[in-house]
Amino acid sequence: MLKLNFLGRGSAFNIKEGNTSAYIKNGKDFILLDCGEDIFERIINNNLLNDVSNVYAIITHLNSDHVGSLSSLIYYCYYIKKITPNIYFPGAELQQLLNLMGHYKEFNLTLPEVAINFNINNICFKFIQVTHIEKMNCYGIIIKDEDSLIYYSGDSNNISKDILNKLNEIDYIYQDTCLADYRGNPHLALRKLSELIAKEWRSKVYCMHIDNDELITQAREQGFNVVEIN
Ligand SMILES: [Zn+2]
Repeated sequence: MLKLNFLGRGSAFNIKEGNTSAYIKNGKDFILLDCGEDIFERIINNNLLNDVSNVYAIITHLNSDHVGSLSSLIYYCYYIKKITPNIYFPGAELQQLLNLMGHYKEFNLTLPEVAINFNINNICFKFIQVTHIEKMNCYGIIIKDEDSLIYYSGDSNNISKDILNKLNEIDYIYQDTCLADYRGNPHLALRKLSELIAKEWRSKVYCMHIDNDELITQAREQGFNVVEIN
């Protein structure tokens, strides 16, 4: 069963918990979901690239807490590891950002279409559009292999009907969840998550991108899980 490992589980200002980012280590493949400001440092401090030959970074959106150290990861792979990392994002804006940061050759960028599967060896991924910040393209990711089905929300203030209708098939949902609850919230308030997910399914849901310690307590009280840092 595929399960995500987490490098950080905090919201953008939650310095203690670090930027939310997950990875899958699959043989010589290192597959990273998002690469926020402190993630490159955590990857190196945990020696996660030591026995790796292929690096893949899948980016959900371009807020700094999701992409802030991608440039350092790219340079490190290219100049120190002598490998060219593979980056996945469904829009041209990541190419523009990396070009502005001085990258023209050190990475391979794939621009998969939204809602169409792409594969990294035996694992299948699919970007789906999510609502987060107006006028910004933000994506969740569906991850599938022969015996697992996972949904990773990226940052979003909702869960689509398509995902909610598949709760019986899905093994795990990793969902951006916050205690803060106000009109226009770009993240999913715990109150709203509780409305969306019936009690019987809550053990499949792992809250991430947490904004404070009280969220952890209240999410668990309501039957949800909270991701742990590896
Ligand atoms: Zn974020």
